[in-house]
Amino acid sequence: MTSISYPNTLLHINGQWTAAASGRTLPVVNPANHQPIGTVAYAEKADLDRALEAADKGFKAWRKVSAFERCKIMRKAADIFRERAETVATYMTFEQGKPIAESRLEVMAGADLIDWFAEEGRRAYGRVIPARAEGVYQLVVKEPVGPVAAFTPWNFPINQAVRKLSAALSTGCSIILKAPEETPASPAELVRAFVDAGVPAGVINLVYGSPAEISSYLIPHPVIRKMTFTGSTPVGKQLAALAGQHMKRATMELGGHAPVIIFDDADIEVAAKMMTFMKYRNAGQVCVSPTRFLVQEGVYKQFVEKFTEGAKAIKVGDGFDKDTKMATLANPRRQSAMVANVEDAKKHGGKVQTGGYPIGEKGNFFEPTVITELPASAMAMNTEPFGPLAIINPFKTFDDAVAEANRLPYGLAAYAWTKSAKTATAIAAQVETGMMTINHLGFALPEVPFGGVKDSGYGSEGGVEALEPYLVGKFVTQAGL
Ligand code: NAD
Repeated sequence: MTSISYPNTLLHINGQWTAAASGRTLPVVNPANHQPIGTVAYAEKADLDRALEAADKGFKAWRKVSAFERCKIMRKAADIFRERAETVATYMTFEQGKPIAESRLEVMAGADLIDWFAEEGRRAYGRVIPARAEGVYQLVVKEPVGPVAAFTPWNFPINQAVRKLSAALSTGCSIILKAPEETPASPAELVRAFVDAGVPAGVINLVYGSPAEISSYLIPHPVIRKMTFTGSTPVGKQLAALAGQHMKRATMELGGHAPVIIFDDADIEVAAKMMTFMKYRNAGQVCVSPTRFLVQEGVYKQFVEKFTEGAKAIKVGDGFDKDTKMATLANPRRQSAMVANVEDAKKHGGKVQTGGYPIGEKGNFFEPTVITELPASAMAMNTEPFGPLAIINPFKTFDDAVAEANRLPYGLAAYAWTKSAKTATAIAAQVETGMMTINHLGFALPEVPFGGVKDSGYGSEGGVEALEPYLVGKFVTQAGL
């Protein structure tokens, strides 16, 4: 266990850490044992109005700070956040459950994201367009879009928030972040690092409460110029419609159902080892989690054996135990969803190779599960399981694999394994996906795009593409007098 104790989480509005005006709080529960560990302040309309006023004022001040100065403050925040990594990671394991090593990695990767966005904000160049008349200058000037409303989920409490905060701050926007009520303390520490580094009052505001009430109040509000959401596709569609109605820009990072296509010529040892790691990381509660494994007939049996062996060997336990490789699911909803998926899979004739059951009486633990030969009509073949469930099915031809990969409305991430450069090029071209990784695990670095197509959303949360939605290109044409 740890000597660090879990805190109560406050709102951050206009530079102050504050309780809700009503004094209302929600309990925070440890998902590994269902014990209450703290509380989080619950914002209502009066708090949101103060946050909106602060974000409006904060934007007016922050947009005047040069990109060079903004970068310096942000890099200081990254350093502070690194120094506090152990505390933040501990809070995250308490509230989200994931193994402490995964929490530490998420915090350190968060600091790297801040550094990258800080630097990239200095390179948010406009352009000069050659004019048709002498003495005329045609400029495209990049300006910050304005105050942003951001909504982030509980599976990666830091990662999802830091991408939005950093993109907003690096481009000169202010932000109201509605962070997850179930995992509130670690994102509050992220905000604290920025505040302690000298980000002025009003630039970052942090609220918690009823997600639906907060989004339906903030998105239409005239102060807000852009919204960004990470979460499920059904909620994303509602919020995107609301943003559209009010002509607000939107970035949507939604659900996925990633296909993994393994060809006969793949290195099966390496593929099975790396994909087992990727599948059960964060207990499968990952939007890019590999879910539908499509394995060519010649190596199907071998892959199922290796992958199942890997799944059986995973040590499941408390997130604070250093030997734990997979910990509890983050909430009881996920455990019930896993039970329902397995029951439905059995009814559809799926073969459970390993796992399939909750573990223990306390917490939301579930066994690393592998199901094979599951027909396309089964629930898990269509709805994102968002848990430790891998489905492995055989395929015959390249075209069969592509047809299955593209069958679903999702298009976030895809994986492929082959030793043929020709097959690699063809599969990358034909799968409908926002991201494709071939023969290695290569997603989510700060400098590369991160986002989906189809029902998985639009916009990017990584790479230079991530800054664009926070910038407006103002055209200025100017002639000499
Ligand atoms: P959910 O669909 O109710 O919520 C998903 C997230 O959206 C949560 O963070 C929630 O607080 C937020 N949310 C819900 N309604 C909202 C609203 N009206 N306005 C603003 N935010 C709102 O379900 P859940 O049980 O929390 O998660 C279940 C599913 O969500 C998962 O199966 C997965 O498909 C998806 N999910 C995706 C990601 C991701 O990284 N893309 C993260 C978390 C959850």
